[in-house]
Amino acid sequence: MILSDLLTTSTRHSEDCIFCRILNGKEEGTFLYRNSKVSAFLDIHPLFEGHTLIVPNDHYVDITDVPKDSLSEVMSVAQMIGKIMLKNLNAEGINVLHSTGSPAGQTIWHFHVHVLPRRAGDDSGFQKWWFSRTHKATREELENLAIKLIDK
Ligand code: 5GP
Ligand code: ZN
Repeated sequence: MILSDLLTTSTRHSEDCIFCRILNGKEEGTFLYRNSKVSAFLDIHPLFEGHTLIVPNDHYVDITDVPKDSLSEVMSVAQMIGKIMLKNLNAEGINVLHSTGSPAGQTIWHFHVHVLPRRAGDDSGFQKWWFSRTHKATREELENLAIKLIDK
């Protein structure tokens, strides 16, 4: 079966959205997996070889409006694709990333999760960024933040 032939009949669709157009077969996509709720296709600008996007077939903007059942299906497919990367792509690790909002780096306004296959020494810049934290928070700082973050 050619996965891209399995066109979605999504109820929420945006003509302006490149991912909706890919999901509806109006633009090319290299699909790895597809079910009634979510799809996985290769990123056109891979950060690492095999960089994959997992998206709901319906159009949701970001993590704040995607329904819980789609979100959990996206994560379940991210797990599946990650395991395949470890098995078939010589990956030694995986990053699962998501950005909501432009300050966080979101550029496509259709909810998606990135699955990145990682290999030892593949990108020192990425590691450098992640381990660039120098500030160790005080107990008081953490307690004050927790008060704001615990929803009332
Ligand atoms: P964001 O920056 O919103 O978290 O990620 C959007 C991702 O979509 C980027 O990694 C970008 O490379 C990818 N992307 C943008 N346009 C296309 C496209 O037309 N096809 C595919 N397969 N990926 C795309
Ligand atoms: Zn869309």
